[in-house]
Amino acid sequence: MNSTPVIVAIDGPAGAGKSTIARALASRLGLEYLDTGAMYRAVTHAAMDRSVALDDTEAVAALARSISIRVADGKTSVDDIDVSEPIRGGAVTAAVSTVAANSAVRRSMRDLQRAWGLSRGGGVIEGRDIGTVVFPDALLKVYLTASPRVRAERRVAEVGGDVDAMERSIMERDHKDSSRSDSPLSTSSDSVVIDTGGRTVDAIVDEIVAMIAPRRTARRS
Ligand code: C5P
Repeated sequence: MNSTPVIVAIDGPAGAGKSTIARALASRLGLEYLDTGAMYRAVTHAAMDRSVALDDTEAVAALARSISIRVADGKTSVDDIDVSEPIRGGAVTAAVSTVAANSAVRRSMRDLQRAWGLSRGGGVIEGRDIGTVVFPDALLKVYLTASPRVRAERRVAEVGGDVDAMERSIMERDHKDSSRSDSPLSTSSDSVVIDTGGRTVDAIVDEIVAMIAPRRTARRS
């Protein structure tokens, strides 16, 4: 029997629909789901909460190593304190890309993410570098995208605000995430790129499920 974990990597920029698709896909496949953005958000929130300067890379990295982050069932906690709401706030969203560019923080998060996947025998994992760096041997790598306008309109529908301002802040975060030197947001040559604009969640999940079945069979044989 082949015990290679069944990892489905879902990467892409902010607002591309990663969380919605990854959650629905995990439920269809009977796998667990991990939101790795919540982990970077949790470190950012912890640093801000403890007044650790975000540009003090060593202090932020030491903090990241010292806290216990749990992401499960749609909730995120740091040292058993529920931070699910504050990590979605504007202050954390504006600062998270700075913390995510810290290589030592990324190393700690990558270790946790790999341990999560291996201990469960697989899962659907969403983020920015899952297929490129965290699980380069993933069974399937999907890169979800959509135009900045569509992504901004989706975010505004969820959290409110002005579409133009949202589009600007999304593009600024994309730029930081894709221009950092350590594991930047990018597609890999073996990822399947899906534009989610104008498509339903069910249609996209169907498309991904159809790609997984033959790969699972091929891996078993
Ligand atoms: O997915 P979400 O928008 O919550 O991610 C927040 C931020 O965390 C991203 O903008 C990015 O800076 C960082 N991130 C990352 N690598 C991941 C997941 C998220 O750098 N695998």
